[in-house]
Amino acid sequence: MSNREYVERDLSVVWHPCTQMKDHESLPPIPIRRAEGAWLEDFEGNRYLDAISSWWVNLFGHCNPRINAALREQLNTLEHVIMAGFTHEAVIELSERLVELTPPGLERCFFADNGSSAIEVALKMSFHSWRNRGREGKTKFITLENSYHGETLGALAVGNVELYRDTYGPLLMDTISVASPDCYHREHGESCRAYSERMFEPMRQALEQHAHEASAVIVEPLVQCAGSMRMYHPVYLKLLREACDHYEVHLIADEIAVGFGRTGTLFACEQAAISPDFMCLSKGLTGGYLPLATVLTTNTVYESFYDDYDTLKAFLHSHSYTGNALGCRAALATLDIFRDDSVIQRNTELAGVMQQLTASFDEHPHIAEVRQQGMILAIEMVKDKASREPWPWQERRGLEVYRYGLENGVLLRPLGNVVYFMPPYIVSEEQIGKIADVAWRGIQRATTS
Ligand SMILES: *Cc1c(COP(=O)(O)O)cnc(C)c1O
Repeated sequence: MSNREYVERDLSVVWHPCTQMKDHESLPPIPIRRAEGAWLEDFEGNRYLDAISSWWVNLFGHCNPRINAALREQLNTLEHVIMAGFTHEAVIELSERLVELTPPGLERCFFADNGSSAIEVALKMSFHSWRNRGREGKTKFITLENSYHGETLGALAVGNVELYRDTYGPLLMDTISVASPDCYHREHGESCRAYSERMFEPMRQALEQHAHEASAVIVEPLVQCAGSMRMYHPVYLKLLREACDHYEVHLIADEIAVGFGRTGTLFACEQAAISPDFMCLSKGLTGGYLPLATVLTTNTVYESFYDDYDTLKAFLHSHSYTGNALGCRAALATLDIFRDDSVIQRNTELAGVMQQLTASFDEHPHIAEVRQQGMILAIEMVKDKASREPWPWQERRGLEVYRYGLENGVLLRPLGNVVYFMPPYIVSEEQIGKIADVAWRGIQRATTS
């Protein structure tokens, strides 16, 4: 069958995520027959470099032989078992290794099956933990502007990207929203560090004012990914940790996108040398293979639930596929690769190549900023460089780059006016060259029409 036949069948029954389906009248979905390494291949043999790791999940390439082998073995012994009252080797070993690898103080893993669910778990656990300790009044969550934490109603409520949130506003719980330390908005000549430090003041005030009713502050450490890959300095996390301790408010680190090496360290929190009270992980957790998520938390939180059954303090939350054995096995194989291949070190080199190959981009008359944090590089297109006036969103300039990328063998999927690279870690220097070249020409095309 050709691409076209699959597209026809698809469009008569499938509803795609985060998509205005009418767009497919002019830009049909691309049916993928197979994938290997950083390459995707359609049914007509066209190839696409996966520069965005298939929505930020893939770490070590598609059809990775080591993860495949681990999964095959797991398949022959156990695919899944109920996690209430039962357990299995893969979930035990994965929990042990995550406790070992994550910042000190995170001692317990609670599993879910996608990132949004992990956020729901962290929010409920934080509130419930205070409640179990007689602090029923702590019912509010503090969140940053421009943040994103997923699509379920609780996760959407603590997120702040208008495009995803506003329509559902009437359904969402009230949250306390604080200005973001996003360094794109720093003054001319101001360092990112100074700006992030200065922008901590509104957060400190919110904590002071709401300490009695605030359960937790939730943040994406260092990079607000869905919020256009906006970045801030680790000093903010350091100040936040100190203030959360001072005002007795939990800190939830949503490392769903930034975890597992994306920002240059295994976890972004490491760059601020902090330990959150909750850390949410998903996306790269299974190397991009299977849906799995986990929330790590402290013994203090864990013990606030630990009591006789009739005190009704238990965390009665579950998902059917909690701790799925195949997912856990893929995660273990992923951690093996980190352990055996000096991945973090090689990523430093790859990040350097990404930087070099885009070093002159900010001379472009419609590029306001090129910013980078480890294996995430973002290019901000603007209508007017001096005033940083953005292109009107209705013009969909990013979509032009997307289109151009596909025509030239690279999957780029800009967020509005922001083109970004978030490649799998097995990407070669030559492939980065192709990504940068196609992005440059795509931006050229998108900004001259
Ligand atoms: C993707 C993402 C989520 C949601 O994860 P899903 O698995 O898509 O539900 C939450 N937080 C952040 C920071 C994310 O990037």
